Amino acid sequence: MRYAPSPTGHLHIGNARTALFNYLFARHNKGKFILRIEDTDLKRNVADGEKSQMDNLAWLGIDWDEGPDKGGDFGPYRQSERKSIYDPLIQQLIDEGKAYESYMTEDELAAQREAQKARKEMPHYVYEFAGMSEDEKQAKIAAAKAAGITPVIRFHVPEGQTYAWDDMVKGEVSFESKTVGGDFVIKKRDGMPTYNFAVVVDDHMMQISHVFRGDDHVANTPKQLMIYEAFGWNPPKFGHMSLIINTETGKKLSKRDETVLQFIEQYRELGYLPEAMLNFIILLGWSPVGENELFSKRDFIKMYDEKRLSKSPAAFDGKKLEWVNNQYIKKADENEVFAMSIRQLIKAGRLPQRPTMDQIEWTRTLVSLYKNQMSFTGQIVDLADLFFNGPADIDDEAKAELEADTALTVLQEFRKRIEDVDVFEATAIQKTIKSIQKDTKIKGRQLYMPIRIAVSHEMHGPELPETIELLGRETTMKHLDAMIA
Ligand code: GLU
Repeated sequence: MRYAPSPTGHLHIGNARTALFNYLFARHNKGKFILRIEDTDLKRNVADGEKSQMDNLAWLGIDWDEGPDKGGDFGPYRQSERKSIYDPLIQQLIDEGKAYESYMTEDELAAQREAQKARKEMPHYVYEFAGMSEDEKQAKIAAAKAAGITPVIRFHVPEGQTYAWDDMVKGEVSFESKTVGGDFVIKKRDGMPTYNFAVVVDDHMMQISHVFRGDDHVANTPKQLMIYEAFGWNPPKFGHMSLIINTETGKKLSKRDETVLQFIEQYRELGYLPEAMLNFIILLGWSPVGENELFSKRDFIKMYDEKRLSKSPAAFDGKKLEWVNNQYIKKADENEVFAMSIRQLIKAGRLPQRPTMDQIEWTRTLVSLYKNQMSFTGQIVDLADLFFNGPADIDDEAKAELEADTALTVLQEFRKRIEDVDVFEATAIQKTIKSIQKDTKIKGRQLYMPIRIAVSHEMHGPELPETIELLGRETTMKHLDAMIA
Protein backbone atom coordinates (compact mmCIF):
# COMPACT_ATOMS: atom_id res chain seq x y z
CA MET A 1 0.00 0.00 0.00
CA ARG A 2 1.09 3.55 -0.43
CA TYR A 3 0.04 7.10 0.19
CA ALA A 4 1.19 9.41 -2.57
CA PRO A 5 0.61 13.04 -1.73
CA SER A 6 1.40 15.92 -4.01
CA PRO A 7 3.21 18.51 -1.91
CA THR A 8 0.82 21.28 -2.87
CA GLY A 9 -0.15 22.29 0.66
CA HIS A 10 -0.92 21.09 4.15
CA LEU A 11 -2.45 17.71 4.91
CA HIS A 12 -6.17 17.92 4.14
CA ILE A 13 -8.78 15.87 6.01
CA GLY A 14 -9.65 13.98 2.80
CA ASN A 15 -6.01 13.11 2.12
CA ALA A 16 -5.46 12.11 5.72
CA ARG A 17 -8.36 9.71 5.32
CA THR A 18 -6.80 8.23 2.19
CA ALA A 19 -3.46 7.85 3.94
CA LEU A 20 -5.13 6.25 6.92
CA PHE A 21 -7.01 3.63 4.95
CA ASN A 22 -3.89 2.60 3.07
CA TYR A 23 -2.12 2.47 6.40
CA LEU A 24 -4.83 0.43 8.18
CA PHE A 25 -5.02 -2.01 5.30
CA ALA A 26 -1.24 -2.47 5.25
CA ARG A 27 -0.93 -2.91 9.00
CA HIS A 28 -3.95 -5.22 9.22
CA ASN A 29 -2.57 -7.45 6.46
CA LYS A 30 1.03 -7.19 7.67
CA GLY A 31 2.02 -5.51 4.41
CA LYS A 32 4.23 -2.51 3.77
CA PHE A 33 3.09 1.09 3.82
CA ILE A 34 5.01 3.42 1.54
CA LEU A 35 5.10 7.18 1.33
CA ARG A 36 5.78 8.56 -2.11
CA ILE A 37 5.90 12.23 -3.00
CA GLU A 38 4.20 13.04 -6.29
CA ASP A 39 5.84 16.31 -7.14
CA THR A 40 5.94 16.30 -10.92
CA ASP A 41 3.60 19.27 -11.21
CA LEU A 42 6.36 21.75 -10.49
CA LYS A 43 4.12 24.82 -10.61
CA ARG A 44 1.83 23.49 -7.90
CA ASN A 45 4.49 22.38 -5.42
CA VAL A 46 4.78 24.63 -2.39
CA ALA A 47 7.80 25.10 -0.19
CA ASP A 48 7.51 22.92 2.91
CA GLY A 49 4.54 21.04 1.41
CA GLU A 50 6.35 17.73 1.73
CA LYS A 51 7.57 18.41 5.24
CA SER A 52 4.16 19.51 6.38
CA GLN A 53 2.55 16.36 4.94
CA MET A 54 5.07 14.19 6.77
CA ASP A 55 4.84 16.10 10.06
CA ASN A 56 1.09 15.88 10.13
CA LEU A 57 0.97 12.21 9.19
CA ALA A 58 3.45 11.45 11.95
CA TRP A 59 1.41 13.55 14.37
CA LEU A 60 -1.67 11.46 13.57
CA GLY A 61 0.31 8.33 14.38
CA ILE A 62 0.69 7.16 10.78
CA ASP A 63 4.18 5.79 10.25
CA TRP A 64 5.60 4.48 6.97
CA ASP A 65 8.06 1.71 6.17
CA GLU A 66 9.62 3.33 3.11
CA GLY A 67 9.68 6.96 2.08
CA PRO A 68 11.85 9.91 1.06
CA ASP A 69 13.17 10.33 4.59
CA LYS A 70 13.56 6.60 5.30
CA GLY A 71 14.75 5.17 2.03
CA GLY A 72 13.90 1.61 1.01
CA ASP A 73 14.59 -0.83 -1.81
CA PHE A 74 12.46 0.94 -4.39
CA GLY A 75 13.62 4.56 -4.14
CA PRO A 76 13.94 7.33 -4.83
CA TYR A 77 10.56 8.10 -3.27
CA ARG A 78 10.17 11.51 -4.86
CA GLN A 79 8.92 11.48 -8.42
CA SER A 80 10.99 14.52 -9.36
CA GLU A 81 14.07 12.34 -8.73
CA ARG A 82 12.87 9.46 -10.88
CA LYS A 83 13.15 11.01 -14.35
CA SER A 84 15.82 8.54 -15.38
CA ILE A 85 13.34 5.73 -14.66
CA TYR A 86 10.46 7.30 -16.60
CA ASP A 87 12.31 8.53 -19.68
CA PRO A 88 13.36 5.16 -21.13
CA LEU A 89 9.88 3.77 -20.51
CA ILE A 90 8.33 6.68 -22.38
CA GLN A 91 10.79 6.07 -25.20
CA GLN A 92 9.80 2.41 -25.20
CA LEU A 93 6.16 3.35 -25.76
CA ILE A 94 7.18 5.70 -28.59
CA ASP A 95 9.28 2.97 -30.19
CA GLU A 96 6.37 0.55 -30.00
CA GLY A 97 4.04 3.10 -31.60
CA LYS A 98 1.99 3.42 -28.40
CA ALA A 99 2.92 7.03 -27.80
CA TYR A 100 3.98 9.95 -30.00
CA GLU A 101 5.22 13.52 -30.07
CA SER A 102 2.41 16.04 -30.22
CA TYR A 103 3.09 19.55 -31.48
CA MET A 104 -0.23 21.22 -30.87
CA THR A 105 0.28 24.45 -28.95
CA GLU A 106 -1.69 25.46 -25.86
CA ASP A 107 -3.50 28.07 -28.00
CA GLU A 108 -4.50 25.51 -30.59
CA LEU A 109 -5.69 23.13 -27.91
CA ALA A 110 -7.72 25.88 -26.23
CA ALA A 111 -9.28 26.82 -29.58
CA GLN A 112 -10.17 23.17 -30.16
CA ARG A 113 -11.84 22.95 -26.76
CA GLU A 114 -13.80 26.16 -27.31
CA ALA A 115 -15.06 24.98 -30.69
CA GLN A 116 -16.15 21.66 -29.15
CA LYS A 117 -17.92 23.42 -26.32
CA ALA A 118 -19.73 25.64 -28.81
CA ARG A 119 -20.95 22.45 -30.53
CA LYS A 120 -22.01 21.14 -27.12
CA GLU A 121 -19.43 18.36 -27.29
CA MET A 122 -17.32 17.15 -24.41
CA PRO A 123 -13.89 18.77 -24.87
CA HIS A 124 -11.39 16.23 -26.16
CA TYR A 125 -8.11 16.07 -28.03
CA VAL A 126 -8.48 15.19 -31.71
CA TYR A 127 -5.57 13.31 -33.27
CA GLU A 128 -3.54 16.03 -35.00
CA PHE A 129 -2.24 13.83 -37.81
CA ALA A 130 -5.61 12.29 -38.68
CA GLY A 131 -5.93 11.36 -42.35
CA MET A 132 -2.37 12.48 -43.21
CA SER A 133 0.09 10.49 -45.26
CA GLU A 134 3.49 9.82 -43.68
CA ASP A 135 5.00 12.63 -45.81
CA GLU A 136 2.37 15.14 -44.77
CA LYS A 137 2.86 14.15 -41.17
CA GLN A 138 6.65 14.59 -41.36
CA ALA A 139 6.22 17.96 -43.07
CA LYS A 140 3.91 19.12 -40.31
CA ILE A 141 6.39 18.02 -37.64
CA ALA A 142 9.29 19.73 -39.42
CA ALA A 143 7.33 22.97 -39.62
CA ALA A 144 6.46 22.82 -35.94
CA LYS A 145 10.07 22.15 -35.03
CA ALA A 146 11.23 25.05 -37.18
CA ALA A 147 8.74 27.24 -35.32
CA GLY A 148 10.46 26.22 -32.10
CA ILE A 149 7.55 24.27 -30.62
CA THR A 150 8.51 21.80 -27.91
CA PRO A 151 6.36 18.69 -28.19
CA VAL A 152 4.57 16.82 -25.44
CA ILE A 153 4.30 13.05 -25.56
CA ARG A 154 0.79 11.66 -25.89
CA PHE A 155 -0.39 8.12 -25.27
CA HIS A 156 -2.39 6.47 -28.05
CA VAL A 157 -5.72 5.56 -26.51
CA PRO A 158 -6.82 2.16 -27.87
CA GLU A 159 -10.12 2.44 -29.72
CA GLY A 160 -13.30 0.61 -28.83
CA GLN A 161 -12.04 -0.93 -25.61
CA THR A 162 -13.67 -1.18 -22.21
CA TYR A 163 -11.56 -0.73 -19.08
CA ALA A 164 -13.09 -2.25 -15.99
CA TRP A 165 -12.00 -3.08 -12.48
CA ASP A 166 -13.45 -4.45 -9.29
CA ASP A 167 -13.17 -1.49 -6.96
CA MET A 168 -12.62 -2.28 -3.27
CA VAL A 169 -15.12 0.43 -2.34
CA LYS A 170 -17.42 0.90 -5.32
CA GLY A 171 -17.61 -2.61 -6.72
CA GLU A 172 -17.57 -3.09 -10.52
CA VAL A 173 -16.62 0.09 -12.43
CA SER A 174 -16.05 0.40 -16.17
CA PHE A 175 -15.23 3.04 -18.78
CA GLU A 176 -15.29 2.96 -22.56
CA SER A 177 -11.97 4.08 -24.00
CA LYS A 178 -13.67 6.85 -25.97
CA THR A 179 -14.75 8.58 -22.73
CA VAL A 180 -11.25 9.53 -21.58
CA GLY A 181 -10.95 12.62 -23.77
CA GLY A 182 -8.63 11.35 -26.49
CA ASP A 183 -4.90 10.63 -26.51
CA PHE A 184 -3.60 12.04 -23.25
CA VAL A 185 -0.28 13.57 -22.31
CA ILE A 186 2.25 11.38 -20.52
CA LYS A 187 5.22 13.73 -20.75
CA LYS A 188 4.88 17.48 -20.47
CA ARG A 189 6.76 20.24 -22.27
CA ASP A 190 8.96 20.73 -19.23
CA GLY A 191 10.14 17.12 -19.58
CA MET A 192 8.29 15.85 -16.53
CA PRO A 193 5.94 12.88 -16.79
CA THR A 194 2.29 13.49 -15.96
CA TYR A 195 0.67 12.08 -12.87
CA ASN A 196 -1.18 9.38 -14.82
CA PHE A 197 2.05 8.02 -16.24
CA ALA A 198 4.34 8.31 -13.25
CA VAL A 199 1.80 6.79 -10.88
CA VAL A 200 1.61 3.62 -13.00
CA VAL A 201 5.36 3.23 -13.30
CA ASP A 202 5.89 3.80 -9.60
CA ASP A 203 3.06 1.61 -8.36
CA HIS A 204 4.41 -1.16 -10.57
CA MET A 205 8.09 -0.67 -9.68
CA MET A 206 7.36 -0.29 -5.99
CA GLN A 207 5.30 -3.51 -6.07
CA ILE A 208 2.15 -1.86 -4.81
CA SER A 209 -0.65 -4.41 -4.52
CA HIS A 210 -3.53 -2.24 -3.27
CA VAL A 211 -4.35 1.44 -3.63
CA PHE A 212 -6.94 3.50 -1.80
CA ARG A 213 -7.39 6.99 -3.08
CA GLY A 214 -10.01 9.71 -3.38
CA ASP A 215 -13.12 9.41 -5.48
CA ASP A 216 -11.79 12.25 -7.66
CA HIS A 217 -9.35 9.77 -9.22
CA VAL A 218 -11.97 7.37 -10.59
CA ALA A 219 -11.81 8.94 -14.05
CA ASN A 220 -8.01 8.63 -14.07
CA THR A 221 -8.12 4.91 -13.46
CA PRO A 222 -9.04 3.84 -17.05
CA LYS A 223 -6.10 5.90 -18.36
CA GLN A 224 -3.80 4.17 -15.92
CA LEU A 225 -5.19 0.76 -16.85
CA MET A 226 -4.34 1.51 -20.49
CA ILE A 227 -0.74 2.17 -19.53
CA TYR A 228 -0.55 -1.03 -17.49
CA GLU A 229 -1.86 -2.85 -20.52
CA ALA A 230 0.66 -1.17 -22.84
CA PHE A 231 3.53 -2.41 -20.68
CA GLY A 232 1.96 -5.80 -20.01
CA TRP A 233 1.94 -5.19 -16.25
CA ASN A 234 -0.73 -6.20 -13.74
CA PRO A 235 -2.51 -3.28 -12.09
CA PRO A 236 -2.97 -3.15 -8.31
CA LYS A 237 -6.43 -3.43 -6.78
CA PHE A 238 -8.04 0.00 -6.51
CA GLY A 239 -10.43 1.38 -3.93
CA HIS A 240 -11.89 4.84 -4.43
CA MET A 241 -13.05 6.37 -1.17
CA SER A 242 -16.47 8.00 -1.14
CA LEU A 243 -16.99 11.75 -1.24
CA ILE A 244 -17.04 13.74 1.97
CA ILE A 245 -20.12 15.91 2.51
CA ASN A 246 -20.06 18.85 4.89
CA THR A 247 -23.15 18.44 7.12
CA GLU A 248 -23.13 22.20 7.71
CA THR A 249 -23.83 23.01 4.05
CA GLY A 250 -25.02 19.64 2.73
CA LYS A 251 -22.48 20.01 -0.09
CA LYS A 252 -19.34 18.19 -1.10
CA LEU A 253 -16.46 19.28 1.08
CA SER A 254 -14.28 21.52 -1.05
CA LYS A 255 -11.10 23.28 -0.09
CA ARG A 256 -12.83 26.61 -0.63
CA ASP A 257 -15.55 25.84 1.90
CA GLU A 258 -14.99 28.14 4.84
CA THR A 259 -17.65 26.79 7.17
CA VAL A 260 -15.34 24.11 8.47
CA LEU A 261 -11.62 23.71 9.09
CA GLN A 262 -10.16 21.18 6.70
CA PHE A 263 -6.47 20.89 7.42
CA ILE A 264 -5.02 18.65 10.10
CA GLU A 265 -2.63 21.45 11.04
CA GLN A 266 -5.54 23.70 12.04
CA TYR A 267 -6.99 21.13 14.40
CA ARG A 268 -3.56 20.52 15.83
CA GLU A 269 -3.21 24.23 16.57
CA LEU A 270 -6.60 24.34 18.27
CA GLY A 271 -5.53 21.62 20.64
CA TYR A 272 -7.19 18.49 19.29
CA LEU A 273 -5.67 15.18 20.32
CA PRO A 274 -4.12 13.12 17.50
CA GLU A 275 -5.79 9.92 18.72
CA ALA A 276 -9.19 11.59 18.55
CA MET A 277 -8.56 12.96 15.05
CA LEU A 278 -7.46 9.53 13.89
CA ASN A 279 -10.57 7.94 15.36
CA PHE A 280 -12.85 10.55 13.80
CA ILE A 281 -11.22 10.27 10.36
CA ILE A 282 -11.56 6.49 10.33
CA LEU A 283 -15.29 6.91 10.92
CA LEU A 284 -15.42 9.00 7.71
CA GLY A 285 -15.33 5.92 5.56
CA TRP A 286 -15.59 2.90 7.73
CA SER A 287 -17.86 1.67 10.51
CA PRO A 288 -17.12 -0.75 13.31
CA VAL A 289 -19.59 -3.49 14.23
CA GLY A 290 -21.88 -2.46 17.10
CA GLU A 291 -22.61 0.83 18.81
CA ASN A 292 -19.21 1.81 20.12
CA GLU A 293 -17.29 4.10 17.80
CA LEU A 294 -14.30 4.95 19.95
CA PHE A 295 -11.27 2.72 19.56
CA SER A 296 -7.51 2.96 19.68
CA LYS A 297 -5.37 2.73 16.57
CA ARG A 298 -4.36 -0.77 17.56
CA ASP A 299 -7.95 -1.91 17.83
CA PHE A 300 -8.81 -0.35 14.50
CA ILE A 301 -5.92 -2.18 12.85
CA LYS A 302 -7.11 -5.43 14.35
CA MET A 303 -10.78 -4.92 13.50
CA TYR A 304 -10.21 -3.50 10.03
CA ASP A 305 -12.37 -5.24 7.49
CA GLU A 306 -12.62 -4.15 3.89
CA LYS A 307 -16.28 -5.09 3.76
CA ARG A 308 -17.21 -2.32 6.16
CA LEU A 309 -15.91 0.50 3.99
CA SER A 310 -18.80 2.80 3.16
CA LYS A 311 -19.92 3.28 -0.41
CA SER A 312 -22.15 6.24 0.38
CA PRO A 313 -20.74 9.74 0.95
CA ALA A 314 -19.21 10.33 4.36
CA ALA A 315 -20.71 13.08 6.49
CA PHE A 316 -18.19 15.51 7.93
CA ASP A 317 -19.82 16.71 11.12
CA GLY A 318 -17.73 19.23 13.06
CA LYS A 319 -19.93 18.76 16.16
CA LYS A 320 -19.21 15.07 16.15
CA LEU A 321 -15.50 15.75 15.94
CA GLU A 322 -15.80 18.00 18.99
CA TRP A 323 -17.68 15.26 20.81
CA VAL A 324 -15.08 12.62 19.92
CA ASN A 325 -12.27 14.91 21.03
CA ASN A 326 -14.02 15.73 24.29
CA GLN A 327 -14.33 12.00 24.99
CA TYR A 328 -10.58 11.61 24.45
CA ILE A 329 -9.72 14.64 26.57
CA LYS A 330 -11.77 13.26 29.45
CA LYS A 331 -9.79 10.01 29.32
CA ALA A 332 -6.44 11.62 28.59
CA ASP A 333 -3.60 11.94 31.02
CA GLU A 334 -3.89 15.09 33.24
CA ASN A 335 -0.36 16.14 32.43
CA GLU A 336 -0.86 15.93 28.71
CA VAL A 337 -4.02 18.02 28.81
CA PHE A 338 -2.34 20.48 31.15
CA ALA A 339 0.71 20.86 28.89
CA MET A 340 -1.49 21.46 25.85
CA SER A 341 -3.77 23.88 27.68
CA ILE A 342 -1.04 26.02 29.20
CA ARG A 343 0.47 26.41 25.72
CA GLN A 344 -2.88 27.66 24.49
CA LEU A 345 -3.15 30.18 27.34
CA ILE A 346 0.36 31.45 26.65
CA LYS A 347 -0.34 31.68 22.93
CA ALA A 348 -3.47 33.71 23.64
CA GLY A 349 -1.48 36.04 25.88
CA ARG A 350 -3.39 35.04 29.03
CA LEU A 351 -0.17 33.94 30.66
CA PRO A 352 3.36 35.25 30.14
CA GLN A 353 5.80 33.35 27.93
CA ARG A 354 7.50 32.08 31.07
CA PRO A 355 4.90 31.64 33.79
CA THR A 356 6.07 31.59 37.39
CA MET A 357 5.85 28.41 39.47
CA ASP A 358 2.78 29.81 41.21
CA GLN A 359 1.12 30.56 37.90
CA ILE A 360 1.91 27.08 36.68
CA GLU A 361 0.38 25.46 39.75
CA TRP A 362 -2.64 27.74 39.57
CA THR A 363 -3.10 26.84 35.89
CA ARG A 364 -2.86 23.16 36.71
CA THR A 365 -5.90 23.50 38.95
CA LEU A 366 -7.67 25.64 36.38
CA VAL A 367 -7.17 23.03 33.68
CA SER A 368 -8.37 20.18 35.87
CA LEU A 369 -11.48 22.25 36.60
CA TYR A 370 -12.34 22.57 32.91
CA LYS A 371 -10.89 19.32 31.59
CA ASN A 372 -14.20 17.51 31.20
CA GLN A 373 -15.86 20.43 29.50
CA MET A 374 -13.27 21.09 26.82
CA SER A 375 -13.97 20.00 23.25
CA PHE A 376 -10.39 20.97 22.43
CA THR A 377 -7.74 22.47 24.66
CA GLY A 378 -7.77 25.83 22.86
CA GLN A 379 -11.24 26.28 24.35
CA ILE A 380 -9.69 26.84 27.75
CA VAL A 381 -9.02 30.42 26.66
CA ASP A 382 -12.73 31.24 26.36
CA LEU A 383 -14.00 28.88 29.02
CA ALA A 384 -11.76 30.40 31.65
CA ASP A 385 -12.19 34.00 30.55
CA LEU A 386 -13.59 34.87 33.98
CA PHE A 387 -10.16 34.32 35.53
CA PHE A 388 -8.35 36.61 33.15
CA ASN A 389 -10.80 39.30 32.13
CA GLY A 390 -13.24 39.26 35.03
CA PRO A 391 -16.92 38.34 34.75
CA ALA A 392 -18.80 39.04 31.54
CA ASP A 393 -21.95 41.20 31.50
CA ILE A 394 -24.69 39.58 33.48
CA ASP A 395 -27.77 38.58 31.50
CA ASP A 396 -31.43 39.12 32.44
CA GLU A 397 -32.08 35.54 33.41
CA ALA A 398 -29.20 35.54 35.86
CA LYS A 399 -30.20 38.94 37.17
CA ALA A 400 -33.71 37.62 37.87
CA GLU A 401 -32.21 34.83 39.97
CA LEU A 402 -30.62 37.41 42.23
CA GLU A 403 -33.96 39.03 42.87
CA ALA A 404 -35.18 36.02 44.87
CA ASP A 405 -35.93 36.96 48.51
CA THR A 406 -33.21 34.80 49.88
CA ALA A 407 -30.45 35.79 47.45
CA LEU A 408 -29.27 38.88 49.26
CA THR A 409 -29.16 37.04 52.59
CA VAL A 410 -27.03 34.31 51.06
CA LEU A 411 -24.61 36.77 49.51
CA GLN A 412 -24.26 38.84 52.66
CA GLU A 413 -23.69 35.78 54.78
CA PHE A 414 -21.19 34.33 52.35
CA ARG A 415 -19.34 37.64 52.10
CA LYS A 416 -19.11 37.84 55.88
CA ARG A 417 -18.05 34.26 56.43
CA ILE A 418 -15.38 33.86 53.77
CA GLU A 419 -13.51 36.78 55.22
CA ASP A 420 -12.74 34.53 58.18
CA VAL A 421 -11.88 31.34 56.33
CA ASP A 422 -8.36 30.42 57.38
CA VAL A 423 -7.04 28.58 54.39
CA PHE A 424 -8.85 29.69 51.25
CA GLU A 425 -9.36 26.26 49.70
CA ALA A 426 -12.27 24.45 48.11
CA THR A 427 -13.06 22.23 51.11
CA ALA A 428 -13.13 25.18 53.52
CA ILE A 429 -15.23 27.18 51.05
CA GLN A 430 -17.67 24.32 50.70
CA LYS A 431 -17.92 24.10 54.51
CA THR A 432 -18.67 27.80 54.65
CA ILE A 433 -21.51 27.42 52.17
CA LYS A 434 -22.87 24.51 54.19
CA SER A 435 -22.74 26.58 57.37
CA ILE A 436 -25.03 29.13 55.71
CA GLN A 437 -27.45 26.36 54.94
CA LYS A 438 -27.41 25.23 58.55
CA ASP A 439 -28.02 28.68 59.97
CA THR A 440 -30.48 30.09 57.45
CA LYS A 441 -32.13 26.88 56.23
CA ILE A 442 -31.67 28.13 52.67
CA LYS A 443 -30.50 25.27 50.53
CA GLY A 444 -29.96 23.78 47.10
CA ARG A 445 -30.34 26.01 44.09
CA GLN A 446 -31.37 29.00 46.24
CA LEU A 447 -28.14 28.73 48.11
CA TYR A 448 -25.67 27.95 45.33
CA MET A 449 -27.06 29.90 42.42
CA PRO A 450 -26.74 33.42 43.88
CA ILE A 451 -23.15 32.70 44.89
CA ARG A 452 -22.30 31.29 41.49
CA ILE A 453 -23.85 34.23 39.67
CA ALA A 454 -22.28 36.80 41.98
CA VAL A 455 -18.76 35.48 41.52
CA SER A 456 -18.95 34.52 37.83
CA HIS A 457 -22.05 36.23 36.36
CA GLU A 458 -22.89 32.85 34.87
CA MET A 459 -25.55 30.30 35.78
CA HIS A 460 -23.39 27.37 34.78
CA GLY A 461 -19.76 26.53 35.25
CA PRO A 462 -17.38 24.09 36.82
CA GLU A 463 -17.40 23.09 40.50
CA LEU A 464 -18.26 26.17 42.56
CA PRO A 465 -15.92 25.82 45.58
CA GLU A 466 -12.97 25.11 43.26
CA THR A 467 -13.87 28.07 41.07
CA ILE A 468 -13.94 30.33 44.11
CA GLU A 469 -10.63 28.98 45.38
CA LEU A 470 -9.02 29.77 42.05
CA LEU A 471 -10.49 33.26 41.94
CA GLY A 472 -8.94 33.87 45.33
CA ARG A 473 -10.37 35.60 48.36
CA GLU A 474 -9.83 39.16 47.25
CA THR A 475 -11.41 38.81 43.83
CA THR A 476 -14.31 36.81 45.20
CA MET A 477 -15.03 39.49 47.80
CA LYS A 478 -14.79 42.18 45.18
CA HIS A 479 -17.35 40.42 42.98
CA LEU A 480 -19.64 39.85 45.96
CA ASP A 481 -19.41 43.49 47.01
CA ALA A 482 -20.34 44.59 43.54
CA MET A 483 -23.52 42.50 43.76
CA ILE A 484 -24.50 43.40 47.28
CA ALA A 485 -24.06 47.15 46.85
N1 GLU B 1 -0.76 12.51 -5.97
C1 GLU B 1 -2.14 12.14 -6.05
C2 GLU B 1 -2.95 13.08 -5.21
O1 GLU B 1 -2.43 13.78 -4.41
C3 GLU B 1 -2.29 10.71 -5.59
C4 GLU B 1 -3.26 9.95 -6.38
C5 GLU B 1 -3.14 8.46 -6.19
O2 GLU B 1 -3.15 8.02 -5.05
O3 GLU B 1 -3.02 7.77 -7.19
O4 GLU B 1 -4.14 13.18 -5.33
